[in-house]
Amino acid sequence: MSEVTVYAEKCKGCRYCAGVCNQDAISFSEKSNAAGYQFAQVDPEKCIQCGLCYTVCPDCVFEIA
Ligand code: SF4
Ligand code: SF4
Repeated sequence: MSEVTVYAEKCKGCRYCAGVCNQDAISFSEKSNAAGYQFAQVDPEKCIQCGLCYTVCPDCVFEIA
């Protein structure tokens, strides 16, 4: 079964991904990454691996494998 990997250090906190996820699977960290952004997190219980976050993210934060 595939799953989504999040490369948190690449995230710039734009939240485009959360806007397209129709499973409400994406939330944002309370802590910031090294670049100073609260980063995306995927709830594996909700995620259906649809790939929309992967498609919309301008910073290649997601990998679906
Ligand atoms: S679209 Fe990409 S860069 Fe923007 S918040 Fe989501 S994971 Fe981070
Ligand atoms: S793969 Fe789809 S369901 Fe999973 S977090 Fe991304 S947009 Fe949401």
